[in-house]
Amino acid sequence: MRLKLWGVRGSIPVPGPGCDAYGGNTSCVQVTAGDGTELILDAGTGIRQLGPELVSRCANLHILLTHLHLDHIQGLMFFAPFFNPATEITVWGPPAAGQKLRSRLARYISTPLSPIEIRELPAKVTFRDLIFDPRLGGGIRDDNNLKVIIPGGASSPWIGPEHLDVSLSNEAIAGIGSMAGSGSVIPMDHTTCMVRAAWRIVRFFHRESCGQCTPCREGGGWLEKVLERIEAGRGREADLDLLMDICDNISPGVAWPPAQTTICVLGPSMPPSVAAGLRMFRDEYLAHIRDGRCPFPPDRLPRRLARV
Ligand code: SF4
Repeated sequence: MRLKLWGVRGSIPVPGPGCDAYGGNTSCVQVTAGDGTELILDAGTGIRQLGPELVSRCANLHILLTHLHLDHIQGLMFFAPFFNPATEITVWGPPAAGQKLRSRLARYISTPLSPIEIRELPAKVTFRDLIFDPRLGGGIRDDNNLKVIIPGGASSPWIGPEHLDVSLSNEAIAGIGSMAGSGSVIPMDHTTCMVRAAWRIVRFFHRESCGQCTPCREGGGWLEKVLERIEAGRGREADLDLLMDICDNISPGVAWPPAQTTICVLGPSMPPSVAAGLRMFRDEYLAHIRDGRCPFPPDRLPRRLARV
């Protein structure tokens, strides 16, 4: 193990000849383990000089913040590896009730104190990490196959497993035609019926509609009824065009970001799940119609919850 001191001062940096012996930077200690693992203790101004040394040779770094006083974190936004998308950095820090470490650091790395926001740092966490990493999602239930992901709440357009390696940033998700939205990622596996999933989402939004706008109030109800009859095996092929026509009346063009004919965005929250389902799983919709029944097993949820 090798230790190198990049900053030892408290409070504020103190440059000048009087500090030649130990340097004038605030706290930062580099610990290099025998296997090459790099651990950085505290991110005072000393971390700025350490950055160039690690930026091109280290793909994996750990930063341990002993506490969050300014002299222990003020170098973070000047640490070059944060701006290298190929570097994976894990920041560890003291816990605080009710507040994540990221939120507490964001109070410092944000305007007007900082020229950059914490969310602008290239994110390395992907949907694959979030869903399959044992420390995060822990994988798909029963080791089933991933079928589809709702990336940012029920109103966001669905994406397929081919996007597992997309990073969890607003920009990256917008780049594949969806949104990070509320940040509530919902993976669905191969045992999930896509008609039932869309029906349940539409049903939720229709229940939430305040009824002021006709496209939302009426369109939501029509979508719900048509999806329900397809799911029950009473659908007809023309229903697929009818669904898209209703979606188009709620959100003209059924594009992303959605156009709006309504007062608020609740109305346009309904078409994405229907349109994505029809685009990605048209054969599944047709199987319901052709076979006159849903080809999937009943919900595992108690009936009371499954109907919500
Ligand atoms: S779009 Fe908004 S304002 Fe219009 S009916 Fe729906 S919930 Fe009400």
